[in-house]
Amino acid sequence: MTIHQQDFQEQRNTAATQIEVPAQRLGSAAAPAAPQAAPRPVPVPVPARTGHRFLIYKQDPSVTELGARLAFVPTVVLNGPTDARVRTEMQGVTPVARNVNGDFVFAAGSPQFDCAHTFAVVRQAIAMYERHNGGNPIPFAWNVGGNTDRISVFPRAGVGANAFYSRTAKALKFLFFTPEGQPETNVVHTCRSFDIVAHETGHALLDGLKPGWLSADGPPQTGGLHESFGDLTAIFLALAQPDQAEALVALTKANLHDKSFLADVAEEFGRALGMPSGLRNADNDLKLSQVGNEVHAISQVFTGAIYDVLADVYTFEMARQRRTKDPSLVLIETASALCRLVFDAIVASPATHARYVDVANKMLQISAGRGDPAIYRTFIRNRFAVREITTAATPLTDLMSGRMKMTDADYTGDGQDVTEVEALDEHSASLRAEQDRSRCCGTMQMPEYQVVDAEKLAKRGSLEDDDILRNDLDELRRAFSK
Ligand SMILES: [Zn+2]
Repeated sequence: MTIHQQDFQEQRNTAATQIEVPAQRLGSAAAPAAPQAAPRPVPVPVPARTGHRFLIYKQDPSVTELGARLAFVPTVVLNGPTDARVRTEMQGVTPVARNVNGDFVFAAGSPQFDCAHTFAVVRQAIAMYERHNGGNPIPFAWNVGGNTDRISVFPRAGVGANAFYSRTAKALKFLFFTPEGQPETNVVHTCRSFDIVAHETGHALLDGLKPGWLSADGPPQTGGLHESFGDLTAIFLALAQPDQAEALVALTKANLHDKSFLADVAEEFGRALGMPSGLRNADNDLKLSQVGNEVHAISQVFTGAIYDVLADVYTFEMARQRRTKDPSLVLIETASALCRLVFDAIVASPATHARYVDVANKMLQISAGRGDPAIYRTFIRNRFAVREITTAATPLTDLMSGRMKMTDADYTGDGQDVTEVEALDEHSASLRAEQDRSRCCGTMQMPEYQVVDAEKLAKRGSLEDDDILRNDLDELRRAFSK
């Protein structure tokens, strides 16, 4: 019997002893029915409960107003923590056993806490996209032909100011470091940042959905989509949690362009590296002409466009629903619907060499197909056009002069609900140049995505060291056979 079965057995037994069986039910079947007395407990069986409490940092140890809070993971998690998709590894610490209540609640900052926190955030990110995937599991890149291998999570993988996802290692690795000039005790653990864990999990999930996109032989915009998907995962995962949504609405008075923890990604990590607004800022004004072929900056253009669309749609939905719904709930629903739209658009985009305009067009078409108000498409067209990603198929004059009719569901600018736009500049460095990944996260620096071409990566399946060294090995084979 596993520990879980014991738990359930105990719960059932406990439940049974607490329920009193009404006296009249104990009589013989032939006895006349006694008149019903006042309400009494109904002797129905109590279903076995699954799920565990986890203590996690809601944003980042430095975002003190949110701090560490309990989260509920509603699926069965074994000691480790381990479940069917994710396992945790920390030498000398794992498997971490649940406490007497079956929960993974440990003192913040302890090794056990780091394992539980990291597992829970990875698990929540997977669960969020599975919801958008119709409740169906999203395969990791190696889950083909019946392979069900888990992803391994290393909360303290080694020393360094970085974190990464590796298809070859089937792993998410989070490093730790002491910022320059600080005492050795001031260690920054990247695994404690909700944003960084969500970001790297985003890379892993996108590699499962679009295995050809991580290759460095695609245009810089394809690399930008990967980096951006990581950041958007952190933003959408924050907004999928009612306490974070409520804190944000109160902090910003429901204006998403107000400075907040939401748009600042990886605050503690960024500050340690001298960036006061976190590692990057989703609420930026960058345009494609300003970012060249630098993938990290290119990613911020896409993230910024999606963030602006989120703020626009939220303004519209708040005006529409403010008399009938709590602002936090409107935000949760708005963010969830936009996350679903981005997810569906990415799934529908090309398998390799995808460009921002491809995803934008899929967003427009899927939005129309699912019956969103026309103003949603106006927001999408405007925001991608202002960033110089696409042509302005409908005029931007109302947006630029601050005269957009933000509350008019049918507003299109000129009466046309266009769902197909063009790339503004086909010769942009973000489409034509080599990818400069020097400022990206650890995932984008991995050699497996630098040297293995997009078509090979797109075929899915696990990746071996020999695949990465293929060119070198072929060369040696030729040299040694002479
Ligand atoms: Zn990244």
